[in-house]
Amino acid sequence: MTTIKNDTPVYSIGKTAKMLNVSVQTLRLYEREGLIIPFKTPGRQRMYSIEDVERLRCIRKYINEDKVSIGGMKRIFGMIPCYDIVKCSQKERNVCPVFKSHTGGCWTYDHTHSVCATKDCRTCDVYKLSSDCGQIKELIFRSSLTP
Ligand code: SF4
Repeated sequence: MTTIKNDTPVYSIGKTAKMLNVSVQTLRLYEREGLIIPFKTPGRQRMYSIEDVERLRCIRKYINEDKVSIGGMKRIFGMIPCYDIVKCSQKERNVCPVFKSHTGGCWTYDHTHSVCATKDCRTCDVYKLSSDCGQIKELIFRSSLTP
């Protein structure tokens, strides 16, 4: 029997929308707003993994049950101190656009001149851990807990 790894992109956007009972347009909107980064095939087709589906469930829970707006979700992701989690030096923080702003997840910023320039956000701990609703609060407060 073949086991699908949680981070392997296996679901099309249509299938993912069906699984979550939302429209394809809603998934595209979440992508445009920087709440999720789908995998793109060489032909630019969007694909989603089990982890992506869990991330979308988390976003849906915040929006539907907790009445958080999309703008609010962006702010929540923007509060995650990625520079502490990936341990950026002070010099790296000084040139990073995320360090002085919190309007969205760090993966939504232009990182041409930062330490993240060559990184793949989909595989980064900061992005992956923020897919879990139960982890977001811990991620945000991690820097204040770490000496
Ligand atoms: S690689 Fe992407 S998700 Fe990770 S800290 Fe850098 S910008 Fe954020």
